[in-house]
Amino acid sequence: MGEQLRRRVVIVGGGITGLAAAWQILEECCREPVELVLLESSDRFGGVIQTIHRDGFLIEAGPDSFITDKTGAMDLCQQISLGDQLQATRSTCRRALVVRNHKLIPVPAGFVLMGPTRLRSILSSPLFSLRGKLRIAAEPFIRAKSDGQDESVGSFVVRRFGHEMLDRLVQPLVGGIYTADTDVLSLGSTFPRFLEMEARHGSVTRGLAKSGRRRSTSGQSGARYSLFMALHGGMETLVTQIVGQIPRQSLRLGCRVQAIHPRPVPAGRSCAWSVAYNRDQKIDADAVVVCGPSHLAAQLVEPFDHGLAGELVKIRYASSVVVNLGYRCDNISHPLDAFGFVVPRKENMGILAGSFSSVKFEGRAPRGHVLLRVFLGGVLQVGLLELDDSRLAALAHKDVAGLLGISGPPLFSMVHRYDQAMPQYRVDHRKAVAEISRRAETHTGLEIVGNGFEGVGLPDCIRQGQLAARRVMACLATSKPPAI
Ligand SMILES: Cc1cc2nc3c(=O)[nH]c(=O)nc-3n(C[C@H](O)[C@H](O)[C@H](O)COP(=O)(O)OP(=O)(O)OC[C@H]3O[C@@H](n4cnc5c(N)ncnc54)[C@H](O)[C@@H]3O)c2cc1C
Repeated sequence: MGEQLRRRVVIVGGGITGLAAAWQILEECCREPVELVLLESSDRFGGVIQTIHRDGFLIEAGPDSFITDKTGAMDLCQQISLGDQLQATRSTCRRALVVRNHKLIPVPAGFVLMGPTRLRSILSSPLFSLRGKLRIAAEPFIRAKSDGQDESVGSFVVRRFGHEMLDRLVQPLVGGIYTADTDVLSLGSTFPRFLEMEARHGSVTRGLAKSGRRRSTSGQSGARYSLFMALHGGMETLVTQIVGQIPRQSLRLGCRVQAIHPRPVPAGRSCAWSVAYNRDQKIDADAVVVCGPSHLAAQLVEPFDHGLAGELVKIRYASSVVVNLGYRCDNISHPLDAFGFVVPRKENMGILAGSFSSVKFEGRAPRGHVLLRVFLGGVLQVGLLELDDSRLAALAHKDVAGLLGISGPPLFSMVHRYDQAMPQYRVDHRKAVAEISRRAETHTGLEIVGNGFEGVGLPDCIRQGQLAARRVMACLATSKPPAI
């Protein structure tokens, strides 16, 4: 087929969503040959995924693992020959701690995210008052809401289990994952299975018992750690492996896209776009896939669809900070017999959570050393990114030193900032996404995907990127170029 007749697909954004879309387009290329161009504004691919090797430590600046019950990431790893690189969490210490009165105490065994699977461990936990325990135990007798409407995680938990369970456990566990305010975080878009359990079984406790969750969580607490996978060489291996399978001429770093415009559709084509980047550069395309935060898409569609841009900016994002800290084991008095800890908002500390990275995964720190990852920021700590790196590192060290009994300064600290990177799925998020999809569908050959829409985690981003690629290829296949 002549070069001029070949379809061109431009992907904007080289994070995992854009890379998954690019990889999928190449997979489909055998049916519909296309030229692929991936435009990434920074000097590296991967977006928030970044692994750093330093003095024998393997440091994750962004995501450190992915969940496997959503299969997007796992399947992609197998397809790109990373199957033998998958690394499970260690089989011991699969539990989380929570701060109560500035001390670390275990999250009750079997308590995962929002669900108590073992009443006995709740009743024996020092985390709750007697009144709080009785309220949690009463959950099966609380009348179920049956209107099918979305609500906030906070209102759901208070309605079913009472305030103590929200304030002392669910707010830090769930709010920490999403760096979100549980009072506005959508239950339907984050943990729809809890809504379903209430609708189906009239109670979360009964639903968990029926679903066999009690067995599957065994002694775990905090998160379903047995379902998480990392990569031996770090999460950036995923990025390098995908990049290695994309032709070099398709990959362009240092290309900041400023605008996209629909242009007159040539004969034999079903859609046509123009993409402007780096102020004076332009590339024409048959289709464009915008992969990144919804505020990026809003900026790009604003000139030709003000209404769509308006819907896109309604999805808010929060900023966060990750501080990695290295220590010598003998400077830490805590046994580190867990994968990490979370901090309830009511404890008024500077940090949100901490992960004991070298306990969670093997090979993260040299012998005799410990790697900790501390999270700060989120929607409840907005001004934090204004602090400089040394202040942020000092804040993180001070708080973990107090909780874990650490003597002396860290061997090193590394601060990574994520400005407006974590979407906040507020109540009725699914309706907002449906409206965005409805408006975006009116633009043939344009796809908008990323973590702002149908899932924040890596498996969701990968799946969204791949689905967008398939839709684009299907769209291009509907209009064959004239035969030569
Ligand atoms: C600190 C942190 C920890 C996380 N931990 C986990 C975890 O452990 N497990 C998990 O599953 N998920 C985790 N997540 C969520 C998950 O990592 C992200 O949702 C996902 O990686 C987002 O990928 P993306 O490609 O959509 O966006 P991004 O990674 O933000 O990539 C967007 C890309 O677009 C580029 N770009 C921006 N503007 C332009 C432009 N104008 N022109 C061209 N390119 C542009 C950016 O440079 C970037 O490379 C975490 C997120 C954060 C921030």
